[in-house]
Amino acid sequence: MTWHVLGGGSLGGLWAARLGRAGLPVQLILRNPQRLAAYRAAGGLTLVEQGAAQTYPIPAQLAADSQPIERLLLACKAYDALAAISSIETRLRPGAQVLLLQNGLGSQEQVAARVQNARCIAVSSTEGAFRQDDFRIVFAGQGQNWLGDAQTPPDWLGELTLAGIPHQWTEKMPTRLWRKFALNCAINPLTVLHDCRNGALLEHLDEIQPLCAELVELLNHAGQADAAVALYEQVLQVLQATAANLSSMQQDVRAGRRTEIDYLLGYASTCATRLQVPAPRLQQLHLRLLEHLRARGLPCA
Ligand code: NAP
Repeated sequence: MTWHVLGGGSLGGLWAARLGRAGLPVQLILRNPQRLAAYRAAGGLTLVEQGAAQTYPIPAQLAADSQPIERLLLACKAYDALAAISSIETRLRPGAQVLLLQNGLGSQEQVAARVQNARCIAVSSTEGAFRQDDFRIVFAGQGQNWLGDAQTPPDWLGELTLAGIPHQWTEKMPTRLWRKFALNCAINPLTVLHDCRNGALLEHLDEIQPLCAELVELLNHAGQADAAVALYEQVLQVLQATAANLSSMQQDVRAGRRTEIDYLLGYASTCATRLQVPAPRLQQLHLRLLEHLRARGLPCA
């Protein structure tokens, strides 16, 4: 069965290259004819690992292609997910499996509501990759891919093993997603506002501690108590362990790219309002971040 990979960016490229070089059938789905032409001119996907570059001529097509899709890796940003899935929804076979790589919360629900005949499986990745150039991906950090839903594990997990893609199936995927969401809400926006690396936030614990307390309340009211346990303590651990790192949001802002704010603080603010949980610090942080993005001419959604 073919792995269709929508999006030849950082994670899409990383997954497609590893699946393809393991001899598994892979098809990239690219945005438009210009991107397809650029991809063909590049001769395939180049993956750089530990300084060594290798090009993989993975076949690519457009969303408008007619080939049915049974298994799809949706490898775009959260804000592109709904439009991207809509572009191929008529190609999805009933019962098709769709892996969702998006960070934050909200896009998974949007996609699942759009393709109700598909089995949507969320993936939470701690692997790191970035685009050095078009279709040239640098594998920057080893990690894990947590994935799962409430059903029995699919039979293709062995293909991930074959491709050397680290993964762990979990029935507690919502807990994983909410925990990562809470960690990202506590860390990423403040790294942008203080224009600093993760470790420098250890000097701003007066902001982080009450923020974590609000996030814990929010998670508890959202029925995600497991994801709320010792949140502040884990935030401290993450800040220490990743002290030299730039958060993904900080990288986006520095590069002048759109952020996934709507799927972190936007989702948190909306959720707090819907559940009637007081969250003044989260909402204030959201407004400060929006103002910061607006002042730099970056999209506010
Ligand atoms: P990325 O490098 O920006 O790649 C996204 C790709 O999606 C781009 O190549 C883009 O095409 C493509 N795309 C968007 N809409 C499309 C459409 N309608 N049809 C076809 N292609 C489309 O993003 P990323 O870093 O891989 O991130 C993907 C998700 O993974 C994000 O939610 C991110 O937060 C999460 N994540 C990333 C990492 C990481 O290390 N990169 C780690 C953990 C989680 P163009 O090239 O034409 O723009």
